[in-house]
Amino acid sequence: MKSRRVSPKDNTTCAKCGVEIVLDTSELKTKYFPDGIRISYFSCGNCGEKYVYLVTDPELRKDIKRRGFRGSDVYMKKRAAELKSAYADRVKELP
Ligand SMILES: [Zn+2]
Repeated sequence: MKSRRVSPKDNTTCAKCGVEIVLDTSELKTKYFPDGIRISYFSCGNCGEKYVYLVTDPELRKDIKRRGFRGSDVYMKKRAAELKSAYADRVKELP
């Protein structure tokens, strides 16, 4: 199987204003925090509400670099989910 990135178009609905957000992963914004946490996020074009797409720490990024990010990889998926729930609040600090 050829390696494939996350589907470039992924639609979601804004929980705040209900407008459909067409998510283009090439337009994700990224914020690095001093402690190594990196948050990829997108915002609603209508109301500006921010949504966390992916949270990684240095350890997970090393894995991704080594093995490529595979959504089906149980370990990475679990790790990414843990980081997302642990750091999702930081979305409030994003520009
Ligand atoms: Zn919205």
